[in-house]
Amino acid sequence: MGRVASAGADPAGVIGRSWPTLRGVRAMGGGSGLTEIGRTATLEQMSDQMPAAATRGLMERLLRLQEYDRRLSQIRRDLSDLPARQERIRARLRDREEAFRRAEAAWKDEALAVKKIEGDVESARATLLRQQQQQFEVKTNEAYRALLHEMESLRATIRRLEDEALERMERAEQFQHALAATRRDLDEEARRVARECEELEARGTALAAEAERIERARAEAAAGIEADWLARYDRIRRHVGDLAIVPVEHGTCAGCHMRLPPQTIHDVRRSDQIVTCAFCGRMLYSTLEM
Ligand SMILES: [Zn+2]
Repeated sequence: MGRVASAGADPAGVIGRSWPTLRGVRAMGGGSGLTEIGRTATLEQMSDQMPAAATRGLMERLLRLQEYDRRLSQIRRDLSDLPARQERIRARLRDREEAFRRAEAAWKDEALAVKKIEGDVESARATLLRQQQQQFEVKTNEAYRALLHEMESLRATIRRLEDEALERMERAEQFQHALAATRRDLDEEARRVARECEELEARGTALAAEAERIERARAEAAAGIEADWLARYDRIRRHVGDLAIVPVEHGTCAGCHMRLPPQTIHDVRRSDQIVTCAFCGRMLYSTLEM
């Protein structure tokens, strides 16, 4: 697929990427002779027969316009997607922040529990010390046995509490390591998110600048097309919501994919009028593969 010989200037650099090869356009040898028709004819007259070169020239200019419009809609879609993409990126950071807060709470809970157990052990030890002093002051055997029993059960409690404190201290230490890892994750993610948001912002700026360039190029291209044809093109585009001009592909309209009558295909091939698809209203152009 080569470029159209008479494609001319393309200030926004859009056309070259997907400019269709118009059937027979190379044979035209450059510029088209439509300007005179464009200036004077009404839409009705233009719908009628016109020289093949004029039809091709007009089609070529409309296709160039469409290529600008296609790129512009793509840019606008990309631009309108940016806030949602930014939001998804920020949500990732919020997830990491949440994970960090959970890890922090788990560690704090465990550290507090250890402190509380240590306090309990301390007071149990103080009680035990008091009881050890009391054992020399009790008067009866019965009271003595009861005290010994109490002390024994207190020692058991202290052992249990110390075991628990040890266990929870180990767990608190694990939680602390986990917290440090979560912190590193969070910091890394924060850097990634900041970088990605910056990239998106830069992309937004670049897209907006490109849109401006293409809008200017589009205005220039539109200035070279007769107002009625321009209006017709815009009307079809608004109506179908995407491409106003499509090729005939294997006997079908590339816009709505309906099989076209042989007469329509014949008219498109002859190129002495602008032919529209009877099903969707799009303008049709011929390609080498039609
Ligand atoms: Zn169609």
